[in-house]
Amino acid sequence: MKVTRLPVDTGPAAWNRILPPQEPAKVLEENITADWLVIGGGFAGLAAARRLSQLHPGDRIVLLEAKRIAEGPAGRNTGFMIDLPHHLTSEGYGGQMEKDRAEAAANRAGIAFAAEMAAEFGLSREAFNPSGKINAAATERGHKHNLDYAQHLSNLNEAHQLLDAKQMHEMTGTTYYQSGLFTPGAVMIQPALFVRGIARSLKANHISIFENCPVTQLTRNGEWTARTPGGHVSAPKVILGVNGHANSFGKFKGRLMHIHLYGSMTRALTPEECRKLGGADRWGVTPADPMGSTVRRISGTGGDRIIVRNRFTYDPTMQVSEGRVARMAQDHSKGFAARFPMLDGVRMEYRWGGRLCLSRNNVPALGEVDEGLYSACCQNGLGTAKGTLHGMLMADLASGNGSDLLDQVMDQPRPSRLPPNPFAYIGANAALRWSEIKAGKEI
Ligand SMILES: Cc1cc2nc3c(=O)[nH]c(=O)nc-3n(C[C@H](O)[C@H](O)[C@H](O)COP(=O)(O)OP(=O)(O)OC[C@H]3O[C@@H](n4cnc5c(N)ncnc54)[C@H](O)[C@@H]3O)c2cc1C
Repeated sequence: MKVTRLPVDTGPAAWNRILPPQEPAKVLEENITADWLVIGGGFAGLAAARRLSQLHPGDRIVLLEAKRIAEGPAGRNTGFMIDLPHHLTSEGYGGQMEKDRAEAAANRAGIAFAAEMAAEFGLSREAFNPSGKINAAATERGHKHNLDYAQHLSNLNEAHQLLDAKQMHEMTGTTYYQSGLFTPGAVMIQPALFVRGIARSLKANHISIFENCPVTQLTRNGEWTARTPGGHVSAPKVILGVNGHANSFGKFKGRLMHIHLYGSMTRALTPEECRKLGGADRWGVTPADPMGSTVRRISGTGGDRIIVRNRFTYDPTMQVSEGRVARMAQDHSKGFAARFPMLDGVRMEYRWGGRLCLSRNNVPALGEVDEGLYSACCQNGLGTAKGTLHGMLMADLASGNGSDLLDQVMDQPRPSRLPPNPFAYIGANAALRWSEIKAGKEI
């Protein structure tokens, strides 16, 4: 099978840019064999490699990543590793009780696996911070979403705390927010620091990670052979951790929705600007309306900065232009100016776009999709937690290591069919735009 599209990432992966440079990439320059091959070095691929190394100590495990680790979506997201259901396409994140309970339990298993790696590999609090997160409301409608969501959490018996405008001001330094809803189970990660830390430790644990090695062809002749420009890897079993690029490997065609999200990060704030801003030096808020802005204030490697993420587009080609990123960034600057008038004059240093993958029925693209070929793809927008979970579970499935959790996660339908293009393209973008307009000041 010829791989039909290779990943294209538009704009810089800001979280990675603010870190010290990585050691040079190890590139595949020969033909090798392995016991296990993992394709993709995001949350799913790294978790799969880690799990394989636990289940098969001594086996030769190879991971191939098309770019550098942390340059793809894994280093472009906003770093909310969320335990509770967080459906981007819903009105207020929540759904049905039993389904939500099961989903929270599964997300928590993913987060627990990430936490174990963070502890064992000695990652810093900056990389992995189990601080919980806040759903911030900037409008009456957003506040109502928060109240409804709080009621849903009470019904689920989930811990939460409502914050008023004063508490939100004290935390964020801005008077923009009317209320907040704190939930304690989320982990805030510096995504690039996290995935780089995991990859470095996996390499130290004898997993071979080759970067800048896009798989251009994957064929099976007894065992699987993945070709890259510099050489190939042959292995009896392969795990695909390429998220929406499962389509590029010919899998789940017409069933995956390719969405782009956009982010901007300010330059480092001066001590005087930090003083003017006030509030805590680290916080993160997701929007009460899923179509609104996610905002983070960070303090650490790379200084004190603010990140704004908003706008969604549906892009079946999995690729967007620099011009599109620049247009979306205007909305980041507007959202930033409205929230932080005291930081007038602070400009965005980095602006970027990144892919994520959804299915219409909000289920992942998992399982043995060909003999010895396993898919850990389609994380439905919550790839930090679900990607980790699915990578771990597909390593279990490929190893014959059953569990109730594996049965639960596999007991979901396949991603359902999308309407054909251009209907899907026009319809999805129109629906996204309408939802964004309705979100109003939450953006
Ligand atoms: C702006 C933005 C904000 C987001 N915020 C959040 C958030 O706060 N919380 C959250 O949970 N999620 C968030 N997401 C989504 C999250 O980033 C993704 O869901 C997550 O990265 C998916 O993990 P993954 O490992 O499945 O795929 P990816 O992280 O996309 O990793 C797949 C890897 O496969 C590689 N690859 C693809 N094709 C090939 C090939 N042919 N050969 C070799 N390698 C290949 C890619 O280069 C890539 O590195 C956000 C995304 C964006 C863009």
